[in-house]
Amino acid sequence: MDPDNEALSTWREVCPACRYPRKVCICADIEPVSTTVSVSVMQDPSEVKHAKNTARLIPLLMRSVQLTTGILPSDFKPIRERVQRSQRSLVLFPQSRAKPVQDFANLAVRVDHLILLDGTWRKAKKLWLNNPWLHALDCAIVTTGKTEYVMRKAPFNGTLSTLEAAGIALGVIDGTPMLPFNRALAALQQRWFAFAPEPHNTP
Ligand SMILES: [Zn+2]
Repeated sequence: MDPDNEALSTWREVCPACRYPRKVCICADIEPVSTTVSVSVMQDPSEVKHAKNTARLIPLLMRSVQLTTGILPSDFKPIRERVQRSQRSLVLFPQSRAKPVQDFANLAVRVDHLILLDGTWRKAKKLWLNNPWLHALDCAIVTTGKTEYVMRKAPFNGTLSTLEAAGIALGVIDGTPMLPFNRALAALQQRWFAFAPEPHNTP
């Protein structure tokens, strides 16, 4: 096999556990976390084939994750059912009435279900608008000074990857350690920069 074909085949070959190309398999850097909060990810279909998507790491890190791809309410039936079963569902989305996620720590009726919208900012907004059932739920924003996620273009500085947003929110709500989230993200980025270098998204 000539080197070019060999390189191509290692990219085509996918790790059955993490579903990333073998070259960027991050299984060695996955340290599962335990949390009492169940997590649902509503994923825009354009994210499914995006190799740099971080949301797909979330089910590797914890057990109770529902990752559903779709656009319309009918696509997200499993997540809507989870909302019915939950005592308090919290959507991470920066709409006008969203409160800082810190406001949802230590509540009498605690958050037991976290919903993330995974896609570019434009696609996430579309998911929000297409799914009015979300609008009745509590809504929070996660902010930090900076993001470690530099692989994809962010619409504005400080935009978090879905993985980071999940880790930070779970840390605030449930005391879940952030380290495994950062470690998985760092591993993914290191692999990409080592094997598929491309310009950083410099702020
Ligand atoms: Zn793997």
